Amino acid sequence: MRDTGKNNRNSAADRLIYHCDVNSAFLSWEASFRIHQLGEKLDLRTITAIIGGDREKRHGIVLAASMPAKKAGVRTAQPIAEALRICPELVVVPPRYDLYVRCSHSLLAILHEVCPLVEQFSIDEAFCDMSEIAGARRDPVGFANALRERIRDELGFTVNIGVSVNKLLAKMASDFTKPDRVHTLWPDEIPTKMWPLPVRDLFFIGRATEARLHAMGIRTIGEIAHTPETVLRGALKQHGTTIYRFANGIDYEPVIDSPPPNKGYGNSTTIDHDVTDPAEAKQTLLRLCDTVATRLRADGVRISVVAVSIRTFDLRYYSHQTVLESPTDITTELHGQACRLFDSMWDHTPIRSLGVHTSRVSQDAPARQMSMFDTTDYERYGRVDRAVDALRKRFGNHVLTRASLLPPKEESPEDNLPFARSDSDET
Ligand SMILES: [Mg+2]
Repeated sequence: MRDTGKNNRNSAADRLIYHCDVNSAFLSWEASFRIHQLGEKLDLRTITAIIGGDREKRHGIVLAASMPAKKAGVRTAQPIAEALRICPELVVVPPRYDLYVRCSHSLLAILHEVCPLVEQFSIDEAFCDMSEIAGARRDPVGFANALRERIRDELGFTVNIGVSVNKLLAKMASDFTKPDRVHTLWPDEIPTKMWPLPVRDLFFIGRATEARLHAMGIRTIGEIAHTPETVLRGALKQHGTTIYRFANGIDYEPVIDSPPPNKGYGNSTTIDHDVTDPAEAKQTLLRLCDTVATRLRADGVRISVVAVSIRTFDLRYYSHQTVLESPTDITTELHGQACRLFDSMWDHTPIRSLGVHTSRVSQDAPARQMSMFDTTDYERYGRVDRAVDALRKRFGNHVLTRASLLPPKEESPEDNLPFARSDSDET
């Protein structure tokens, strides 16, 4: 992956990255809302309680569980019925998404106050590039502890902060013991702190890869790190290279400033079955890219950051992004980048939802730089897109479907074209 972004001012060795992760986010946000706003005495965090999803649809599952509930055997992503069987006295609280968005914004606001370069990673997680912050450079752990305490005191919920030289290591560090802790994972701590962990603790490793690695006799992150890259690549393709690098602590991805709401263009979709076929996932990405690029062209803008996010059936959330050499509004190009990101991050764990988000929007982007190695006829793709846009404008969105989006069997074309803007548009 290239890292040509303007944010990548520092070489990997002298970067300082924080990963900030809210502890049991949905549950602690609900608990602190009830105590501070509703004046309730009972703290949900101290009893067997869960936030439980939409019973109507297929999301009748545990979204977050308190520590006492976890001790009783309740797990995230478990069906609520099963959780109630294990723990009959369980308190089930419905999700309150507007509250989560507000809490997330308050967290981001504090992070932005201490650091200009913040990348929101999910509703309760963000990376901060602290490389240029003098106080943090002087005392990375002390500064992180002060930030952690400030968040706890001002917002009423706790976070873990992971401290290291890149995003991957900082994220791994924030996952060590919880709650309300700061952990470091410096490169020289990798052998003692990261290598003994089971493979599934490594970022981007889900159940599918875990099973493959176990079959190869690989059980710890250290054993991945000591397996030749060619062997992993042979077994797991591009994803094998990704996890080999991660197991060795290698990650050059820059922290990319998150756009304020509505400054980026994105779309995501929850699929009504678990997707395991990469071709189907890429077709879904094409649909998302098609809607995003259509909006870019309608607004006369181009983007130069593309991100793909995956939520798996067991509610793991992965996101990966890249900076383009030239800004684009071309559907095919956006889709090509999205597929590349997808291949590097997906480990065949069944997918529940997919998202494409773009940012670094430019109004009058400079002409595309010519590259000796890229002979793609962008002019032609651009003309095709404009022709599609014109026909759709005249005859409606259903008039033209990209050939690879044509329904394979019984689906109606309408189902295949979610032209309505998705409500889950990221911020
Ligand atoms: Mg969290």
